[in-house]
Amino acid sequence: MQPEYDVAIIGGGPAGSTAGILLAQAGRRVVIVEREKFPRFHIGESLLPYSVATFDRLGVREELDRWAVDKRGAEIATACGSRVVKFLFENGFRLRHRRAYQVERAKFDQMLLDRARTAGAEVREQTAVERVEFASDAVTLHTSGGVLRARYVIDASGRNAVIGQQLDLKQPLPHLRKFSCFAHYEHVQRDCGIEAGLTRLVSAEGHWFWLIPLDDARTSVGVVMDVDAFKAAKQSPEETLDRVIDASPVMRERMRDARRRTPVHAIGDYSYRNARLTGPRWMLAGDAAGFIDPIFSTGVFLAIHSGEQCADALHAVLAKPSRESRLFARYERGLRRVMDKYLRFVTAWYQPEFIEVFTSPTQKFQLAPAVNAVLAGNLGNDFGIWWRMQLFYLIVFLQRHYPLCPRLESRAPAQAQAVAEVS
Ligand SMILES: Cc1cc2nc3c(=O)[nH]c(=O)nc-3n(C[C@H](O)[C@H](O)[C@H](O)COP(=O)(O)OP(=O)(O)OC[C@H]3O[C@@H](n4cnc5c(N)ncnc54)[C@H](O)[C@@H]3O)c2cc1C
Repeated sequence: MQPEYDVAIIGGGPAGSTAGILLAQAGRRVVIVEREKFPRFHIGESLLPYSVATFDRLGVREELDRWAVDKRGAEIATACGSRVVKFLFENGFRLRHRRAYQVERAKFDQMLLDRARTAGAEVREQTAVERVEFASDAVTLHTSGGVLRARYVIDASGRNAVIGQQLDLKQPLPHLRKFSCFAHYEHVQRDCGIEAGLTRLVSAEGHWFWLIPLDDARTSVGVVMDVDAFKAAKQSPEETLDRVIDASPVMRERMRDARRRTPVHAIGDYSYRNARLTGPRWMLAGDAAGFIDPIFSTGVFLAIHSGEQCADALHAVLAKPSRESRLFARYERGLRRVMDKYLRFVTAWYQPEFIEVFTSPTQKFQLAPAVNAVLAGNLGNDFGIWWRMQLFYLIVFLQRHYPLCPRLESRAPAQAQAVAEVS
């Protein structure tokens, strides 16, 4: 019996909707199975410029221009405010895309799922996939709403990673055992003009904060710390968030008049990878393929990127099934390369030397614009970016032994203050 769908997609977040829209636009029979009813709260609100080309393909760029916050870059400050560095994408190294968006995820995810419906995908909300059965000619999804069959399946179920769990592929990243708590606030102090739309990261000893503007009134505020530090303090997520905000002069000042408008949400131990990203008749996309850390806002970018790559690969495979192993292997190689790149960057962020170099950027050799380009999502094999990043990592390594850049206050109390505006 012929399966009723060409592709079944588990999860209607950014990865699943992206794949669903593109496959439906290409005329494939697609079903997206989503366990929640949208709109629903989700974290991951700061997007990267290199998703914009995909937004054009998805047909949602104009809608985003209408309601999303215009994000031109990011600012990174130390907790006491002694060092502040701004990255504006317009100054990134050979960047083709120089603007991104900050979005409320409930609205963004609903927009993408609605777009999948209008493109022709069938969407089944409030339906959870419990198990996937693989056969040589099809996959069968056992869901809370019955059984459905498709020729291929994309697992885009986020950190729930349905196939990763089922096949025991998930591999935690022990050096990134983090805990995060966050909420939406009103009356958080903002800067003026385009600076109002920047992502703000505040680096403190042992933890860091984000401030992401969601619209004219609301700001997403969260903190990331070691799981062990959270447990040792024996406080609730609410108490933890209040305590660490109060302990940081920069955060205290920005949050002086702030009022919390949502409950405090908490997530722990979220970083992992999968031993495999593809197999016979299945592909993993977005967080279901792996999640590294939220520091550089790469999650939704990777979700959209991998959803797009899965859709293009499957469209070609459906036309010519003999291409499956070659195209799946290419997808897996490409996504691993990108994840490795960001994992190296994220791992470095948690070393004090990295913050010292990062917040004292040099204009020499255009190192700061190259870092800026990677943070914008420029994943091409540009040699100009590659060698600059190697040099950047070498400086971070040397900083461990020789203070090439000013030490952080916590490591050298007498350090002079440095404020830098970077291009
Ligand atoms: C603290 C924190 C802060 C973050 N900040 C950022 C940020 O600023 N910028 C950024 O880009 N990223 C950020 N991220 C990452 C971002 O949240 C994710 O990378 C992104 O949401 C991944 O999209 P996705 O489509 O893969 O998965 P999701 O968005 O999680 O979507 C998966 C969907 O699958 C559904 N699902 C799950 N299980 C099943 C099932 N069994 N059956 C059916 N449906 C199912 C879920 O309901 C969900 O709707 C952050 C993450 C964390 C933890």
